[in-house]
Amino acid sequence: MFKKKVLALTIASLSLIGCSNNNIEIKPEKMAHVGKVTNLSKVTNVILMIGDGMGAPQVGLLEEYARRAKYSTYNNKGNKTALTKLAEAGQVGLSLTAPYGQYGSLVVDSACSATQLATGLAAGSEMIGLDENGNRVQTILEKAKAQGKATGLVSDTRITHATPAAFAAHQAHRSLENEIAEELIESGSVDVLLSGGARHFLPSDIKTDSRAQQLMTDLGATETLYKSSKRKDKRNLIIEAKNQYGYELAFNQQQLGHIEGGKVLGLFANSAMENGIAYSACKKASNCSQPSLREMTLSALEILSQSEKGFFLMIEGGQIDWAGHINDAGWMLHELLKFDEAVNAVYEWVKDRDDTLVVVTADHETGGFGFSYSRKDVPSAKTLTGNGMAGRQYKPNFNFGSLDNLDRLYQQKRTFYDMMSQVSNDNSLSNTKAEQWFEVINQYSDFKVTLAQALSITKREHNEYQQENHTYLSANEFPKVNDFKEFYVYGDDVHGNLIGRALSAEQNVVWGTGTHTASPVPVYVFGPESLAKQFSTMQHHTEIAQKMMKALFDD
Ligand code: MG
Ligand code: ZN
Repeated sequence: MFKKKVLALTIASLSLIGCSNNNIEIKPEKMAHVGKVTNLSKVTNVILMIGDGMGAPQVGLLEEYARRAKYSTYNNKGNKTALTKLAEAGQVGLSLTAPYGQYGSLVVDSACSATQLATGLAAGSEMIGLDENGNRVQTILEKAKAQGKATGLVSDTRITHATPAAFAAHQAHRSLENEIAEELIESGSVDVLLSGGARHFLPSDIKTDSRAQQLMTDLGATETLYKSSKRKDKRNLIIEAKNQYGYELAFNQQQLGHIEGGKVLGLFANSAMENGIAYSACKKASNCSQPSLREMTLSALEILSQSEKGFFLMIEGGQIDWAGHINDAGWMLHELLKFDEAVNAVYEWVKDRDDTLVVVTADHETGGFGFSYSRKDVPSAKTLTGNGMAGRQYKPNFNFGSLDNLDRLYQQKRTFYDMMSQVSNDNSLSNTKAEQWFEVINQYSDFKVTLAQALSITKREHNEYQQENHTYLSANEFPKVNDFKEFYVYGDDVHGNLIGRALSAEQNVVWGTGTHTASPVPVYVFGPESLAKQFSTMQHHTEIAQKMMKALFDD
């Protein structure tokens, strides 16, 4: 009798259960068979997506572009980003990212942040997969593997770069990318590895060893891919991965598409994969030479979802951060578009499922980016017909930023790095001339610089101008380039930051730094409602890891 009643209830609709007056307890797992259930406390799969450097300001740029740019690439998608679709179907929260613990600090780097997201524990700056005392600790990915789940890491940077590395390697410093490459294939903890970074897997003498080159060609790799190595030894980890550790190899989208399951090492670039601007262009021309972040995501999902015990997958949009570091708003927009495409692939895969938790967040904000209003080019007065104007013209005191700027940012044809290497192909940026920057920037950017602004890009330090005689500047017009110079820490990259400075007023864009800020980052979560809701709060990244682990594991 009792049994019958439970059965009757399990096939009834949820609303009926809510109305029934009996006191029979119904376990959640029984209710799983009743239509769309929303209070599951466990999931089989966790997909974590990290937009590196994608703080709230970056998400704001993507949303403004999608919703309000005249020629938005989202015009045929209801002007809705995948992030917004995820927000509408799930939950949104905020998270603090700083290094926690007794040696904690205020601002986080990607290695520490990814480690905290992977372990739920405080980590030290620039550490990979270690706790704050330097102990190796099991990550969510490793625990998933230990429990028989499939695992995967996908990134559009290098597979050995800090963010993916922190989920499956344990090193005292993020710069140990050769050692990270070894760990990734030797540990057996990752089934699917898709990214760039071949240079850390290839033997040190690949440039001169024609036999090793032929071996790579035979496997389907192009010369661009195996052109150089960063290794100090002659190990070929790609061959080892295939022969000793059972990985299938892929060096292009076609090879990746043919892999049906099992372990996969996909290396699609010698170092970083294609940047977002180049990707937008090759996508438009249908001639991309590498799989996109979206395509890698789809392949990983296809392979990992064959696992009966479920999977853990981390997907990184890693170059949002790089664009932020060099203060390149146009490039950053294209990186956000590339990442959102991957988010859409995940959303489409997961939207009708109740066995998967999706968390999309950033490891930190990069650049201290924002649109800002200025006193430059204040729009002229307009007459409005509204009855509250009382004869007064509409004339705001400042330039609050034209929406046209969104399309113009999208129009940028090269990254600042590309511009820098075009101006100086011999790497001596300190000897460049204003005219060179003037020509290159104005060729590739819809926002233009003057010759005086171009001059401000030629020198890293203000005092370097004193030694030169510039006829078109008076003495007090020497550019004040490095007002925040302690925050521009990457050597010659500062020339790129100075391009950002030169374009900033035209773009209504400001940047606070060439590094990271500690502003809280958005967290988008989709999954069973009772689980997803736990993220809709102000939390810290270690707690995000703990919540994901609690949802994925029984103990
Ligand atoms: Mg990263
Ligand atoms: Zn960074």
